[in-house]
Amino acid sequence: MADAAAREDLVKACHVLAAAGHNDFVWGHVAVRAEHGSGVWMKPSGLGMEEIQVDDLVLVGWDGEVLAGHRRRHVEYPIHTRIMLARPDVGATVHSHVGSATSFSSLQTPLVPISHEGTYFAPEGVPTFTATSDLILTDEQGDAVAATLGQAHAAFLQGHGIVTVGADLVAAVMAALLLDRACRKQLAAMAAGGPKVWTSAEAAVVKRTHVYPRALLEQGWDYLVRTLDRASNA
Ligand SMILES: [Zn+2]
Repeated sequence: MADAAAREDLVKACHVLAAAGHNDFVWGHVAVRAEHGSGVWMKPSGLGMEEIQVDDLVLVGWDGEVLAGHRRRHVEYPIHTRIMLARPDVGATVHSHVGSATSFSSLQTPLVPISHEGTYFAPEGVPTFTATSDLILTDEQGDAVAATLGQAHAAFLQGHGIVTVGADLVAAVMAALLLDRACRKQLAAMAAGGPKVWTSAEAAVVKRTHVYPRALLEQGWDYLVRTLDRASNA
């Protein structure tokens, strides 16, 4: 079957995200663009991210039809399909209900780069989708999320969770992990009465090229995969 490498990376992505706290029982999902433009490979519904194996994955067409795989698709597939249709540069998407970002987005405060992690989202920042806190069930809602996202690497879904995107799974997953860390650090600073200082937007754009060039994102991803391998072999 085509897309073998992408599907193996999608399984790793699910496991990495689960280990990093992005699993919400069986909810939250990840997708990667399928070869030949047929749709997206996705985590199926009904299983936790840490449970996913290659045979569990489903190929979802642009209209939501399951084209391959024996499991059911998540109802929120339009998050992934509509963003990928709107953004030809996006090859992978993550949607999770990670607690830090969900709490943070209720504060109506911009995420600012108080640490390395925040610079990853410069210069666009992390826009917030506010039209509904309900599930994203239709193409129209998916289009609205894509419009909020614009050219950013991530968006908050207020009262719901996050969406992160990247050219591939390495970039989309690392964005999700960095966003969680950035939110946790800013929440901690806010709880202590701050933040009072942070990296300027101009400096963050430069700093980002030093702290998160592609090679270092890959190193982070490889480390996370090795960590999972060690845990499964222990
Ligand atoms: Zn959701």
